[in-house]
Amino acid sequence: MRPDVERLCADLDAELTRDAPIGREHTWFGVGGPCDALVRPRTEHALSTLLRRCADADVPVRVLGDGANLLVADEGVDGVVVKLDQPVFEACTIGVDGRADLVRAGGGADLAKVMHASVRAALDGLCPMAGIPATVGGALRMNAGGRFGAIGDVTACVRLMRPNGVTEELPASAIRFDYRQTNMPRGVIVRADFQLQPGDQEPIRTRLKEIMAYKSGSQPMAAHSAGCMFRNPTLPSGERVSAGMLIDRSGLKGLVEGTATVSPEHANFLFVPEPRTGRATDVLRLVERVIDRVREAQGVELHTEVVIWRRGDRTGAIQ
Ligand SMILES: Cc1cc2nc3c(=O)[nH]c(=O)nc-3n(C[C@H](O)[C@H](O)[C@H](O)COP(=O)(O)OP(=O)(O)OC[C@H]3O[C@@H](n4cnc5c(N)ncnc54)[C@H](O)[C@@H]3O)c2cc1C
Repeated sequence: MRPDVERLCADLDAELTRDAPIGREHTWFGVGGPCDALVRPRTEHALSTLLRRCADADVPVRVLGDGANLLVADEGVDGVVVKLDQPVFEACTIGVDGRADLVRAGGGADLAKVMHASVRAALDGLCPMAGIPATVGGALRMNAGGRFGAIGDVTACVRLMRPNGVTEELPASAIRFDYRQTNMPRGVIVRADFQLQPGDQEPIRTRLKEIMAYKSGSQPMAAHSAGCMFRNPTLPSGERVSAGMLIDRSGLKGLVEGTATVSPEHANFLFVPEPRTGRATDVLRLVERVIDRVREAQGVELHTEVVIWRRGDRTGAIQ
């Protein structure tokens, strides 16, 4: 049943779009269907009221960041999708609480902008995020990172709004940051503080350029994808191995399913060469084929890292 969005958003300081084409317009894949309602709150109070009303009405709520780790099914997704792209959630302040090395950024802030602002202030620590498209909230939820480090390494505190609309401050010591996941409770990340290291600007810039060059030399950065589709699996021996290597060894680079393809450049990137005519269903079928073929050829089970939103399925919803 469709939610009564007029009632949920009545008197809220927020922008509401019904049947918003989020899959096509707000994800890096550029495919997939709409959501019942896209809501962009202009204040924390509006967000809190919205969450409380949705909880009372049992309407699912999902949070959309930059859509860089997200696939929306072709049939779209039910309930309310929240996007933190209003100024209050995009702010970034260098030096807070009287500490020059503490950076505070809203949950909807563009991570690249936060990283560049910190480098301009000669603060190191966010350079490992170079080339990772994300909002601050999306990066924290996924503990985004790679061989150079992860965002959890420099996180000092997270301000989280729980599904009942109440906010709490979580110090980093209360959060376990693991490989591409955290144990943070469900909720909306509205803000975070990062503890960075003061240094000289030039070496920090050089490091940033090196990391960026590594990323763009090893990944198809401009493809319509969500980065790595699968988590690197852990073998029974406890060793974590590269999913891309397993897919490559199974001979799947360049495999095509309808409008979706396994990247010939980086086997863990599945992409849609032509999103205008692309279909999320093809990506999902390609995912299944890759899982089957890697199981047959390598005896290893792959699991998706990319978050998948489907109608009637509350996986990925905060309530
Ligand atoms: C070209 C390319 C390269 C990439 N390279 C890397 C890489 O090197 N390392 C890496 O880790 N990832 C990489 N990724 C994946 C992606 O960039 C990260 O997972 C990133 O953290 C996603 O952030 P987002 O804001 O786009 O989140 P989204 O994709 O919008 O959402 C991802 C999840 O986070 C949740 N979420 C988003 N915002 C909030 C919030 N404010 N509060 C609570 N939950 C929220 C969503 O509900 C969803 O469950 C890459 C992707 C692309 C397209």
